[in-house]
Amino acid sequence: MLRRSLSETRRDFYMHPELSGEEQRTARVIAARLRKLGLTVQTRVGGYGVVGVLEGARPGPTVAYRADMDALPVQDTLETAYRSPVLGVKHACGHDVHMAVALGVAEVLATLRDELAGTVKFIFQPAEESLEGARAMLAAGVLESPRPEAIFALHVSPIPVGTVGVATGLCLAGMEEFRVSFSGQMDNLDVLSARAASALRALSGSKAPTGMATFNALIRAMRAGTVSTHDVLVSCWPQNGAPTAPEHLLGLVSLPQMSLQDEVHARIRQTLDGLVAGTGAMYNLRFTFSNPPVVNDAAVVREMLPILENVVGADNVWVFRSPYPFAHEDFALYLEHVPGALLWLGIANPARGIARLLHTPDFDVDEDALVVGVRVMTTLLLYKMGNAS
Ligand SMILES: [Zn+2]
Repeated sequence: MLRRSLSETRRDFYMHPELSGEEQRTARVIAARLRKLGLTVQTRVGGYGVVGVLEGARPGPTVAYRADMDALPVQDTLETAYRSPVLGVKHACGHDVHMAVALGVAEVLATLRDELAGTVKFIFQPAEESLEGARAMLAAGVLESPRPEAIFALHVSPIPVGTVGVATGLCLAGMEEFRVSFSGQMDNLDVLSARAASALRALSGSKAPTGMATFNALIRAMRAGTVSTHDVLVSCWPQNGAPTAPEHLLGLVSLPQMSLQDEVHARIRQTLDGLVAGTGAMYNLRFTFSNPPVVNDAAVVREMLPILENVVGADNVWVFRSPYPFAHEDFALYLEHVPGALLWLGIANPARGIARLLHTPDFDVDEDALVVGVRVMTTLLLYKMGNAS
């Protein structure tokens, strides 16, 4: 029964995907659901953010749970009854699952309210994919009154359904965005841009997984703790340099440690210096945006491991001693204020043909994960509030 209603909720979001900053309908659905459960609801928090506060009958600590809301500019190629009807927009990062699980947890906890000591603050955050939503919600005071003592989030991952992953510390890399524009005497700007893009990409010391085989190898290395945190990944795309988009290059650096920043900046400059030398061209390099790494609180993780093991079984808790160094999450910003952790929820099921990387057109989830997610998060929140069963 629970599984069916979770699946219905998830599919409703899946069939109404909204891009970063455009989550109007998604926010409306969430706010209505939370109000119906009797939560105190605040809307338009940092954009289309929704905050629901569930106060237990007895006093106790406040714990926060964040779920993200936005979809991606990716065309859905799955042949399902509930495929995305919106051309070129799909929940290809599982945020539909995150919202359905969080609403499921709210529903379970709302029924326990009379016995509950403490408060849960549900944070539904828009614009995660653009890494702008957390910043906006924090600026709107999302962590104030009541201020949580801990914060959690769940993110789907193509590890087997039934498993839950957690990094003991560093969980995801930080990132920096940069832009380059060229000026001066140049005959062939396109050639220079293309050359610069590939030279900058070559600064990468590592490569992001391109399929499940390389992903699974990386997951094994993460569990063994053997992933290098000294290698950066540089992505770079030539832009048109038109007056409306004056940059010639847009780049992104994945930094497993922010301490690598100065060295990477110097190497980018050296590369560009070498490219323009003798061409009569000049370049302007600007670092335009950054997002810190996701760092789980070691003590929080230590404390929650036995709880996770109780819920899904010890073999199904995958502890990552190295980060996943190629993706970014603005959940990092909450963790700069409040200790907590990002958990990975397994959604893959190769036997059913469900095994795809996030952000791909045929990304799919085994919906059994919904129930696992609700059980894990409900237990975890209850424990953190001191209502351990
Ligand atoms: Zn995501």
